[in-house]
Amino acid sequence: MEKLWSAVTQRLEPYVPGEQPQDRQYIKLNTNENPYPPSPRALEAIRAAAGEGLRLYPDPEARGLRRAIAQRHGLGIEEVFAGNGSDEVLALAFQAFFDASRTLLFPDITYSFYSVFCGLFGIPYREVPLDEGLCIRVEDYLQPSGGVIFPNPNAPTAQALAAQDILRILEADPDRVVVVDEAYVMFGAESMVPYIRDYPNLLVITTLSKSHALAGLRGGYALGQAHLIEGLTRVKDSFNSYPLDRLALAGAQAAIEDEAYTKEQTLKVMATRERFAAAIGAMGFTVLPSRANFVFAAPPQGVSGQEMFAALRERGILVRRFSKARIDNYLRITIGTEEEMEKVLRAVAEILAQRA
Ligand code: PMP
Repeated sequence: MEKLWSAVTQRLEPYVPGEQPQDRQYIKLNTNENPYPPSPRALEAIRAAAGEGLRLYPDPEARGLRRAIAQRHGLGIEEVFAGNGSDEVLALAFQAFFDASRTLLFPDITYSFYSVFCGLFGIPYREVPLDEGLCIRVEDYLQPSGGVIFPNPNAPTAQALAAQDILRILEADPDRVVVVDEAYVMFGAESMVPYIRDYPNLLVITTLSKSHALAGLRGGYALGQAHLIEGLTRVKDSFNSYPLDRLALAGAQAAIEDEAYTKEQTLKVMATRERFAAAIGAMGFTVLPSRANFVFAAPPQGVSGQEMFAALRERGILVRRFSKARIDNYLRITIGTEEEMEKVLRAVAEILAQRA
């Protein structure tokens, strides 16, 4: 039967998100969701939209949402593109700005969807190794290429580059698009949005899934100069002229407008992160400095990452582990509520004590 599949389909190794088991209640710290609920204003807007209006198609140009996003970032509506989760926006960016003729660069340890998109769209790519400290080395991205993409902060390593370093990558080759995936930027990293007006080759993509606690709603957006936004719009309109459904449009817009709520929640997550990182550091973990809503940490000698992962799972705590060279001993632990992280710390202490 596989003969009936195209060569591309056979070659693809689809992205596998963190597990979502249904067998019992877990403390779920494996997919970087926000532990707090979305803005009450977003929930109210969704309820209000779930009436008569559902009979009608949504606005294909998502103008209400795009206007709110533009206002929040001090940009014009023509500099904003809204999509169904940032995964969709990323897919459209790969199709609009990268192609088979030139090689795309991204880190060897990064968001694993990038290589999947390259396979799907036939884009050649080179995975650039992170340095010894598992950081992106700017110098490796200065030679001309077919484009560059990386998350800032990077995932799953949580470490961020400074804006000044990213500017060097943008300036090194003005003829290629540099996509900065700012999925986690609100948890303490420096955003590139203030540089959009000066850099025609800069596209920033972000999501409402993490800082706005709306992973279930599926809202993402891109910011860049009008010519880049037009590129994304052309690709989108070629296969689906509607970006988000009416409920998502309403909820996303209200969440963006409730900036004070988002700020408060992200600060709470960041404060918990600092306490948690210090506590596991004190138990002997190697913890990379995090600017995201997760930490990337390796257990002390005597317990492997795999053993710690399994022992936590047995205790009802789900974290993420990647079986990839150099990081297979690390765990990516999403920051949950204070109480959840206290439970994780108690579980870790118990596991370490049993192995001592
Ligand atoms: N970029 C990065 C770096 C991510 O980690 C994620 C979440 N898995 C996404 C993009 C996609 O987020 P979403 O599709 O929920 O907007």
